Amino acid sequence: MSYFVNEKGYYGDFGGAYIPEMLYPNVEELRQNYLQIIGDADFQQEFHYLLKNYVGRPSPLYLAKRLSERYNANIFLKREDLNHTGAHKINNTIGQILLAERLGKKRIIAETGAGQHGVATATVCALRGLECVIYMGEIDIERQAPNVARMKMLGATVVSAVSGSKTLKDATNEAMRDWINNPVDTHYIIGSVVGPHPYPDMVSIFQSVISEETKRQLMEQTGNDQPDYVLACVGGGSNAMGMFYHFLDDEKVKLVAVEAAGKGVSSGHSAATTFLGKEGVLHGSRSILMQTADGQVIEPYSVSAGLDYPGIGPQHAHLFKVGRAEYVSITDEESLEAGLLCTRLEGIIPAIESAHAIAHLEKMKFTGGENVVVCLSGRGDKDLDTYSKYFGF
Ligand SMILES: *Cc1c(COP(=O)(O)O)cnc(C)c1O
Repeated sequence: MSYFVNEKGYYGDFGGAYIPEMLYPNVEELRQNYLQIIGDADFQQEFHYLLKNYVGRPSPLYLAKRLSERYNANIFLKREDLNHTGAHKINNTIGQILLAERLGKKRIIAETGAGQHGVATATVCALRGLECVIYMGEIDIERQAPNVARMKMLGATVVSAVSGSKTLKDATNEAMRDWINNPVDTHYIIGSVVGPHPYPDMVSIFQSVISEETKRQLMEQTGNDQPDYVLACVGGGSNAMGMFYHFLDDEKVKLVAVEAAGKGVSSGHSAATTFLGKEGVLHGSRSILMQTADGQVIEPYSVSAGLDYPGIGPQHAHLFKVGRAEYVSITDEESLEAGLLCTRLEGIIPAIESAHAIAHLEKMKFTGGENVVVCLSGRGDKDLDTYSKYFGF
C-alpha cells in the first residue's frame, strides 16, 4: 500500500486535478516541472539556506517536562511556533516562491482566510521582490485587521472577495479567476495540502522538513528515531502532512490527526470533516468534504480560523479511509483549555489550532515511557483576544 501520490496524481480514491479547462495550462506547467525543479541541487541549496538563516530552522524539538509528568509519557513539542512569521506556513511559501522564480513568474497570487497564509506569502514576496496580490473575503478582512495591516506593510495588494459568504471559499474562487486571466506571468501559492495535483504533493514535500528534522532530533535526544505517537491538528492538513511525512511508511508509528469539532460534531457548528463529510470534489481535487445531500458545501465553524475549512487534503482522505492515521476531533472549549494548560505548564502560548492537538493528549492513555511528538504548528499571539475573552483576563 502506498501512502504517496501515484503518477496520475491520486492517493487511492482521492486527489486528481478537477479544474476548468482554462486552468489546465497553468496546472500542467507546474505538474511537468515541479519534481525536477525541487530535486535540483541548486534549488535544494537555496531552500535549505533560507530555511536555516531566514526562517530559523531547524525548529527545536522540546521535551515538555511538566506536560510529560501530567500525561505519564514523554511529550515532545515540535516548535514550528518559533519560525519567522510564527507558524509552519512559511516552509511552504519559501519553497513555492523559489519554484515560481525558476518558472519565470513575476507575480504571485494567494488566497487567505485568517490571513496567516497571506502574511507568509506577502513575506516571501517582499523577500524576493515579486508583486503580490492576496484575495481575502470581505468578512475576513474586517475580522482579521492586524494581518491585513501586516500584508499591506509587506507591500501586498489585498483584494476583497465580495461574492457568496465573503470568506475563504470565495477568496479561493477569485484567486482561481485571476490565475485563469494571467496564465503566463503569475504563480498561485496555495497554502495547504489541498487543490489540484500537484499542489498537495508539492506542499507536503516542502512541509516534510518538519518530520525530517524530528527524526534526527529524536535520535539525538532518545537514541531512537521512532516515536510511539505523532499528533498534529488538521485544517487543510499541511502541518500534519509535514509532521507525518517521514513516518508514513513506518507502521509502528501511530499517526493522530486532530480536527476542529467547533461547538460539537453534531451541533451544526463544526469543522470535523472526517466525521461529518462525504466524498466529493472541492477546490480541484477529490477528497472528503462537508456537504449537503445535494452536494452544496456546508459552512464550517471553529474558534480557530486556521481549522475552519470544510474539507481535508486528498492524502489525508486516503490515510483516513485506509486507516493509516486516526482522525479525532476536539471542541473549541477543549482547545482553549489546552492552550491555557500548555501556557501555564510550559510557558508556551500555542496557536488555538495547535492547542487542538495538545488537547487530545487528555483523551489518550499512556503506560509511561511512550515517546509522543506533538506538532506545535504556530504561536498564539494572534489568538490573545480570543483567549482573553474566553478566560476573562
Ligand atoms: C493555517 C494554520 C493551521 C492549519 O493549516 P494546515 O494546512 O492544516 O496545517 C494550523 N496551525 C496554524 C498555526 C496555522 O496558521
